[in-house]
Amino acid sequence: MDQPICQFASDNYSGICPEALDALLAANQGDAPAYGNDPWTQKAADRFRDQFETDCEVFFVFNGTAANALSLAALCQSYHSVICQETAHIETDECGAPEFASNGSKLLPARGENGRLDPVEVERLITRRSDIHFPKPKVISVTQATELGTVYDLDHLHALRELASHYSLKIHMDGARFANAVATLGKTPAQLSWQAGVDVLCLGGTKNGMAVGEAILFFDRELATDFAWRCKQAGQLASKMRFIAAPWLGVLDSGAWLHNARHANEMAAYLEQRLREVAGLEPLFPRQANSVFLALDPRVIERLHAQGWQFYTFIGVGSARLMCSWNTTREAVDRFMIDLAQALHS
Ligand SMILES: *Cc1c(COP(=O)(O)O)cnc(C)c1O
Repeated sequence: MDQPICQFASDNYSGICPEALDALLAANQGDAPAYGNDPWTQKAADRFRDQFETDCEVFFVFNGTAANALSLAALCQSYHSVICQETAHIETDECGAPEFASNGSKLLPARGENGRLDPVEVERLITRRSDIHFPKPKVISVTQATELGTVYDLDHLHALRELASHYSLKIHMDGARFANAVATLGKTPAQLSWQAGVDVLCLGGTKNGMAVGEAILFFDRELATDFAWRCKQAGQLASKMRFIAAPWLGVLDSGAWLHNARHANEMAAYLEQRLREVAGLEPLFPRQANSVFLALDPRVIERLHAQGWQFYTFIGVGSARLMCSWNTTREAVDRFMIDLAQALHS
């Protein structure tokens, strides 16, 4: 293999964390029933019910796009609409999968500061049209942590919940980085989900340190009626389900789920600190999770890329996004800072 790559590109560039890999290997013993009828899948679902302190319905799918698209389809009829922040992954990075899976439910992008939904703007979208010619709002979709590396605290969630209950809407949460939000906010998973009015949570495993797999938690069990069939039809029912479920058990039982997220957040905090100290650079948005966004001169970006650093420049707002992960090291941050300082001054 070539040199290991230097990257702050994404938390899905990282490999599998040891806790997930060990659990995967441990599940590879002998034969087990297929399609989720195995002990690992049952146990992992129970562990989610323990962690979230509620009797939710749990499903496992391959990736986040499927989790979002299928869960939104379960909440909507084709004539409904989903209000989301304009930078939301469902709007900008899922190739129309939510609309496709729901046979046409429309996404209504809402503006809002720092990647969050602004309740005033959300209400404006809800009430703008109520005639028969426009899709009927049905869901508010919240990304936690947001695409811009910020989080919704309990007050933010409370304001959205008020709107949802007032207008009889459901709340969907895209929690690809939910663990990072839990780690930052110091609130329990329950407080940040169903206790805050979330009806369905798409919980990210991949970016947290697993090889593959996201969980979908329906806190309102009614909404999960026939959902297993929807997953199967969409090609999201793994026949060897135990290999998706077992790593979840590994990260939940060991605490790696939150430990990984906390580490990623800490590395981003360290990066933010060094950017300020070494280069006088301020992040574009308050850094609350595991990413730092920077406005960098295109020539500086080019130099860093030429030195082998990989990071995205098109996510969210077109600036440089530096994303940390469960396996980001301080040394990587330090090396990046040396190259950045040089790129800024040459
Ligand atoms: C990565 C990500 C997803 C899931 O993406 P997949 O590539 O489909 O697994 C969903 N939402 C957000 C906010 C993400 O960052």
